[in-house]
Amino acid sequence: MTYLAVPIAAKDLNEAARQIDAAIAAGAEAIELRTDYIENLSVELVGELIAQARSAAADVPLIVTCREKKQGGIIDYPLALRLDVLIAAVQAGVEFIDIEYDNFILTEVKQKVLGACLGRTTRLILSAHNFQAPFADIKKLCRDVLAACPDAIPKLVYTASHINDCFEAFDLLHDAKQDTIAFCMGEAGLISRLITKKLGGFVTFASLDEKTGTAPGQSTIEQLKDLYHWDSIDAETELYGVIGAPIAHSLSPAIHNACFADAGLNKLYLPLLVAGGQGEFSQFVDNCLSREWLDFRGFSVTIPHKENALNYVKSKTGFVEPLAERIGAANTLIIEHRASSIENRVSAYNTDYSAALDSITAALRITRTDLKDMSVAIIGAGGVARAIVAGLADAGAKVKIYNRTVEKAKRLAVEFKCDYASLDALHKPKEKLIINCTSIGMHPNTDSSPFNAKLLQKHMAVFDTVYNPLETKLLKEAKEVGAKTISGLDMFVNQAIAQFKLFTGKNADSKFMKRIVCESV
Ligand code: NAP
Repeated sequence: MTYLAVPIAAKDLNEAARQIDAAIAAGAEAIELRTDYIENLSVELVGELIAQARSAAADVPLIVTCREKKQGGIIDYPLALRLDVLIAAVQAGVEFIDIEYDNFILTEVKQKVLGACLGRTTRLILSAHNFQAPFADIKKLCRDVLAACPDAIPKLVYTASHINDCFEAFDLLHDAKQDTIAFCMGEAGLISRLITKKLGGFVTFASLDEKTGTAPGQSTIEQLKDLYHWDSIDAETELYGVIGAPIAHSLSPAIHNACFADAGLNKLYLPLLVAGGQGEFSQFVDNCLSREWLDFRGFSVTIPHKENALNYVKSKTGFVEPLAERIGAANTLIIEHRASSIENRVSAYNTDYSAALDSITAALRITRTDLKDMSVAIIGAGGVARAIVAGLADAGAKVKIYNRTVEKAKRLAVEFKCDYASLDALHKPKEKLIINCTSIGMHPNTDSSPFNAKLLQKHMAVFDTVYNPLETKLLKEAKEVGAKTISGLDMFVNQAIAQFKLFTGKNADSKFMKRIVCESV
């Protein structure tokens, strides 16, 4: 069992009562009473706090902690009082007390704590925290903790400055023969909190809300339950995720997790913050693939790693979909299970171009062959422009690329044999289809548009790849003149549907996906 514990971070009993009730209502499977948050702490107050928690939910296990300030505590209570509080908690019959390993190994502390626990059911959590970096040797630290108290639950928590720092916590949990808690703090450590249940970690901690978090990178219990389907995760859960930087605001976890759950699949989709370039990207995917027991089966890939993803698969001699090769970027990686080596296990696809073409043809009620000779203005020359230009060039459309940095427009145009110009030259567009592939108009700059409204005409079709907001200024103005409009939402949903098919072999319900995106934007 992996407990989903909610820390109670209250300064008095009234606030604690409110937080405990809310945690129980939200589905907490254990409650951590962080007594170092309580003002004017005393043994009597802790007794009342425990009684209060018991009366709220008699069968929810309690962890009592009085954290030392240098290990993340809030009020700097002396060791003697912290010890008295923990011993009082043992005498009150709580299931767990958490004490810092560094303090526990002091002879008089150890004697007192073990003496108090003797003949009682309370279990000891011995914790160590490193707020700066990974531990020098986490495996040795774990052995030291168990040597000091073989029945204890080691709790080893450190800050991950990069997602690649998380893997030693995963290895520790994977190899553990006894109950162990190991996860990483910080945004880069988020996945270690999400997959601890799959790896058999003893506890993960989730805050009640954004305000009451007790450590950096903690998710809320609502996110764990609703977005990451905590209740369904088990050792067999297969992992997927979106690799990018930044990634916190990606809608992909919401979409894919909802669709996995809807299809009754035991799959979990994670936000994977991979900072850095090719080196860090390759190291991350190597880390995932070399640990088959992690069960990573596929990735979506976004800014800035689409080229890195393609290069990675080529370096592993994996299969590359021909158009992904031509575009020079992949947004989907599929990992074959139980292949003999990392080589050949991973294949690369690009669902962006097809998603864009399908959005255009559906909105204009035409087929891909009707795109032949259609004149199209592409605004922008970045990653999304590249995929759309490749798709349109493949279909035989007459494409002209307009970009702020004209040199970039030229490079793309030469590659795909089309025309180009600077963005300033877009004053008398002759093209029938206008596609915005820049981020202009995207949240929070919703008042801007890449295209002068006076140039919009009724006979045009206007496609904005931006999907946040769902209706951009450009689309609103295009609608006002009676032009046909195509929203970035359609493309976003289409590429997610194609990824879902690659991930699962099943068709996703596009209306359901659209609803999830609309609810999440
Ligand atoms: P990118 O590679 O960073 O390219 C950004 C492009 O926007 C470049 O051409 C850049 O011009 C231009 N640009 C940015 N700010 C500008 C400004 N203030 N004025 C003029 N031009 C500006 O990004 P990307 O991956 O192509 O993504 C672009 C947008 O596409 C995203 O913001 C997103 O909204 C949208 N998108 C949508 C989907 C979907 O499924 N609907 C998928 C991916 C992306 P320079 O070359 O001069 O810098």
